[in-house]
Amino acid sequence: MPAAHNYWPLVLQDLKESLTAINFQTWISKIQFNGVVGSKGVNQVVSLSVPSVFCRNYIQKKFYNQLQTSLRKYYPNVTEISISVDESLEPVVVGAEESIQQSLIQEVSASDEVTDNKSSISLMKILSDPASKYQGVETKLVHSLNSKYTFDNFVICGSNQLAAMAANTVAKHPGMEYNPLFIYGGVGLGKTHLMQAVGHKILENNPNFKIKYISAETFINEFLFAMQKNKMADFKAFYRSLDVLLVDDVQFLAGKEATQEEFFHTFNELHQQNKQIILTSDRAPKDIPAVEARLVSRFGWGMVVDISEPDFESRVAILQHKARRRGINLKSDVVEFVAEKVVSNVRDLEGVLNKILMHSTSLGVDQSISFDIVQKCIGEDFLKQNEKNYFKSKKTIVSPQTIIEVVAEYYSLQVSDITGVSRSKEIMKGRQVCMWLMKNELKLSLPAIGRIFGGKDHTTVLHGCRKIDELISNDPSFGGEIESIQAVLKN
Ligand code: ADP
Ligand code: MG
Repeated sequence: MPAAHNYWPLVLQDLKESLTAINFQTWISKIQFNGVVGSKGVNQVVSLSVPSVFCRNYIQKKFYNQLQTSLRKYYPNVTEISISVDESLEPVVVGAEESIQQSLIQEVSASDEVTDNKSSISLMKILSDPASKYQGVETKLVHSLNSKYTFDNFVICGSNQLAAMAANTVAKHPGMEYNPLFIYGGVGLGKTHLMQAVGHKILENNPNFKIKYISAETFINEFLFAMQKNKMADFKAFYRSLDVLLVDDVQFLAGKEATQEEFFHTFNELHQQNKQIILTSDRAPKDIPAVEARLVSRFGWGMVVDISEPDFESRVAILQHKARRRGINLKSDVVEFVAEKVVSNVRDLEGVLNKILMHSTSLGVDQSISFDIVQKCIGEDFLKQNEKNYFKSKKTIVSPQTIIEVVAEYYSLQVSDITGVSRSKEIMKGRQVCMWLMKNELKLSLPAIGRIFGGKDHTTVLHGCRKIDELISNDPSFGGEIESIQAVLKN
């Protein structure tokens, strides 16, 4: 596919403004942009992929005109939109949210020609069979799972490996292996995502299961509401009739004695019938304050697993995965730069990535995003104090390419000498100066620098940087050379 500018994020933005939030979220946001085929200036074809035949037909029927209008704003020579089906894409999950569910049912009811395929069976059943309609709607409405949170979307890495393995086991054998599954860890580390991924998987394997995802806070509110309205019998009956119960952030049960009492009985009832329970919390069961001991001990009956902060490699993997899913090919030095700066949690990584995508007007495969934009997106919150001062004191932030060009010019070398493999003394020195500058000026990681130089090992980069450090401290005139290069870079 030719690497034309990727204006898809802008097309999406345009569509977002012209469609309802529900339609955009359900149908359009799932589209994968593959690129533009055809020579510049004439009859170009935009290639898109969607997860199912049903989805393609629906988009063609309902949104083709808007798609065409928005695409033409950025790709004026497009005459055709080709939509293919790629079943590996994130499916359009009907009923992810209650409001979406309602809207879909109304919308698809109004549409008479949509054809079915595997991923839309539940929706078609709702439409065609009044008996299954109620059952289908009820099951779907009960679960309140977010369609974003599936196993497909979950990057397994060192910090969540154990939790992901346990979740996978539970998804395959609900109620049989680890019951309850208790997942704990800090905020933004993927507890809710993993828990809901299990819910989706179980539902996929057991479409008639009654699954409920609820945050502990909402559970408390529902309980209080049921008490006020004299609906306790319904409340109890509902929760005790579930096949799978997912309760998020159970630390909020702390101090809520009446709710704990009710939850205790629900727990026992479900557990006794081998119905799967999954719980999450921001801390281990024993560390949750003001929760009855008998409940705490039950939390530990099955499997307790924690998710910790992702390490550097995990952060890189998560960023790459998320960028790829949005059709953006971020250069590895950008990814590593972000992964080095944003160390807190996955939610923050996602936030920065979203900002990068929004700030970049043209993110083609061959386009590099300037470090300037990346730094703006990371923002000061994520920078350590010394880095804040460092960035403040710099007028412009250079890229690795600029460093290579400036160093090549300074030492009268060719850029290709520096990026090549020659081991001549002068060229090696120029190359090591570049490495040293990338490490100290751009704060790139050693592996990232190694990659810029054709896949050199990080130990080679480290050796080069140490060599330059030695030269700077032993040879004042060499220190002067570095300062001159730095001055050029800063201007
Ligand atoms: P928590 O419940 O632990 O506070 P969430 O499950 O809400 O965290 O995750 C925060 C965000 O980070 C979500 O958008 C989620 O999809 C994403 N996320 C977390 N961990 C991962 C992961 N391992 N792979 C992909 N996305 C993740
Ligand atoms: Mg959560």
